[in-house]
Amino acid sequence: EAKRAGRGRFRVFETGMDAALRDRRELEIDLRRASALKQFDVHYQPFVDLYTNRVIGFEALIRWDHPVRGRVSPVDFIPLAEETGLICKIGEWVLRTACATAMTWPEEMTVAVNISPVQFRSDALVQTVLSALAHSGLPAHRLEIEITEGALLENTANVLATLHALRDLGIKISMDDFGTGYSSLSYLQKFPFNKIKIDRSFVQGADEGGDSEAILKAIAGLGLSLGMAITAEGVETQEQLARIRSEQCTHVQGYFTGRPMSADSISTFLSA
Ligand code: C2E
Ligand code: MG
Ligand code: MG
Ligand code: MG
Repeated sequence: EAKRAGRGRFRVFETGMDAALRDRRELEIDLRRASALKQFDVHYQPFVDLYTNRVIGFEALIRWDHPVRGRVSPVDFIPLAEETGLICKIGEWVLRTACATAMTWPEEMTVAVNISPVQFRSDALVQTVLSALAHSGLPAHRLEIEITEGALLENTANVLATLHALRDLGIKISMDDFGTGYSSLSYLQKFPFNKIKIDRSFVQGADEGGDSEAILKAIAGLGLSLGMAITAEGVETQEQLARIRSEQCTHVQGYFTGRPMSADSISTFLSA
């Protein structure tokens, strides 16, 4: 009796695995075609300077409208794109699109582009960035690159060389999602980032006080003393905005100050 139940459970488990694998394979095939079928788009979410209360730029965020699944979150397909290497082509498209779009904005505004650790390990990255700038005519100082701690894990000498090459071109470098991942304070020392983006889990978790609030305070203080700009991610309420202001964050990005929007909506947003 127990044996049969056990076997039954195993079969169900196996079927679940098969289904997950099949689903993943299907998604991978669709992902390979998505670019040619023009299913990708880039949305832009504003950054606001907390001293002037003005929008100073936007982060480019890829969107995938799948014909059957609807909108697939980048959280679900970026890892797949990384595993399959497709991220390099997709990332290049995002970079070119974002630079070209930023050229239509007021001249002082910057565009931030997320770069996957996989792209960072490829030798072509600096060339790809240069080419996107040249094609669009965007000056290098209006481009920001966002990397996560994962990019700094492997092959550190190469990664550092790439970061320095980008910095030497005048591009700004942000450490994204700081405080999650492998958070090592030594990363902040190894490379002079222009900006630290505090992960939204600390911003939102600080509502309950406790650890998140202490971590938020500590990261903001660290950034301040290292001379880096500090962006608080994921601010959704007036109360959270007040808190990050009092913690001396320099910038805010979140639904409260603006959701990601299509390129077409930006001029209306800016004139509102
Ligand atoms: P990220 O770079 O940390 O981007 C911020 C994410 O938080 C975005 O999710 C944004 O829509 C979301 N967000 C912003 N404000 C709020 C808020 O107030 N509340 C909540 N709940 N969420 C907020 P999105 O667009 O789904 O992107 C998720 C992640 O996917 C990004 O995190 C980034 O790691 C990755 N990603 C997106 N676009 C690209 C891309 O072009 N290339 C690469 N390599 N990764 C990308
Ligand atoms: Mg980002
Ligand atoms: Mg982030
Ligand atoms: Mg994030």
